[in-house]
Amino acid sequence: MRKTAFFASALLLGAPLALAQRTQLKPAWNLFSPQDDIKLGKEVAADAKQQLPSCNAPKVDAYLTDLGKKLIMKLPTGGVQYPFEFHCVNDKEINAFALPGGFVFVNRGLIEASNNESQLAGVIAHELSHVALRHGTSEATKAKAAQLGVDVIDTLLGGNAGGALITELGRFSAGGVLLRYSRASETQADILGTQVLYDSGYDPRALAQFFEKMDAESQENSPPEFFSDHPSPERRVERVEQEIVKLGGEPKKVKRDSLEFEAIKKEVAALPVLKKETLTASGGSARPAGPPPGPSAKYAEYQASAYTVKYPDNWKKYGEKDDVSFAPDGGVMEIEGGHAGLAYGIVVSVTKVPGDATADKALDTATQQFIMDMQKDNPKMKVERQPGGVRVNGQPGLSTYLSNESPAGGEETDWLITVIRPEGLVSFVCAAPARDYENYDKAFAAFLDSVKFTR
Ligand SMILES: [Zn+2]
Repeated sequence: MRKTAFFASALLLGAPLALAQRTQLKPAWNLFSPQDDIKLGKEVAADAKQQLPSCNAPKVDAYLTDLGKKLIMKLPTGGVQYPFEFHCVNDKEINAFALPGGFVFVNRGLIEASNNESQLAGVIAHELSHVALRHGTSEATKAKAAQLGVDVIDTLLGGNAGGALITELGRFSAGGVLLRYSRASETQADILGTQVLYDSGYDPRALAQFFEKMDAESQENSPPEFFSDHPSPERRVERVEQEIVKLGGEPKKVKRDSLEFEAIKKEVAALPVLKKETLTASGGSARPAGPPPGPSAKYAEYQASAYTVKYPDNWKKYGEKDDVSFAPDGGVMEIEGGHAGLAYGIVVSVTKVPGDATADKALDTATQQFIMDMQKDNPKMKVERQPGGVRVNGQPGLSTYLSNESPAGGEETDWLITVIRPEGLVSFVCAAPARDYENYDKAFAAFLDSVKFTR
């Protein structure tokens, strides 16, 4: 027995040396399943294909597909069969993006800016790494959880939040929440991308070289679009070089270029140049067109522990318990930093009352505190009309008007109603862009009229 135990521990000690010391990367926990990634990616890719100008060059698409396939063979996908697709986009901006599930769009500008095949392969390997590590839906999970207060545990136990999120996210065109990566995700995609380059025989330094080149060009011109979707983590190049050392150093014989690449580059250079205004969105900052459909006059009911409320039946409810939002389709949109922001709808929350909830001025104090907390997250938010007394379901409340920057662009009007209940401060924030506010005023008032406190 002893001997066996000794033998086993010796094996364990020996194990790290026997294995390659490359950085091990796996997808993070995520509300979506890999099948959701494929379904969601397919929907958004169909949208992207309509919006983006195609190169209309089958040879170029075929070349990208061949190159992509070589890299995919070395890409760890955890056994998931993603339906990879590669499309050339007739846009001179240096950019590429990959949607969840493996739908890759490569701008002609990227092909033209690559010095050789391994640099293009490097950027594509980076994109494919985002797919394999499922960064798109993982970022979407974070954005939703942060903005709408999705109770993560409830969601885990409760089932189909992923399905509801797909309906919501499917509305974002290419360039929405799915394509704004955090710096941590960028580092992971750089590392995995470098491993894929190394394993497929390309110069593993190509990715770092390409970023160095882009950085140098950014000093003179505005930074390429690529960096707005893929923000540079600190020490990007250094981190890639460390990984190459871990992989055993730069191999003696590497593939840098091919005749085929040079031929494709010429073909791409000869494509007609489209004027920028004919491009609708280029993986950048597309927004759903127009305001969402107006609030329905029919109602659905929601029952929380502190209250029940009726909301237009063409709105959806997000979140759980003390932190719920009601919004029409298209009412939630992308804001700075890739988070989701509520442009149209109502956020209801129950928060702790600071100090003694039964004191004379408790409602005033709690309301001021609540406004200050909102201003921390919304630095442009201003009080437009000071709190005035109202009644909500017979209870004394305060009504305050605020303005903010709307996620839909322009100014936003926020109507805040606060009431103290045994559960805490119940707040209703009714938000719409100032230009559309009058179309929502009635729905907001009907919502507040329908409130019934349970105790
Ligand atoms: Zn990236």
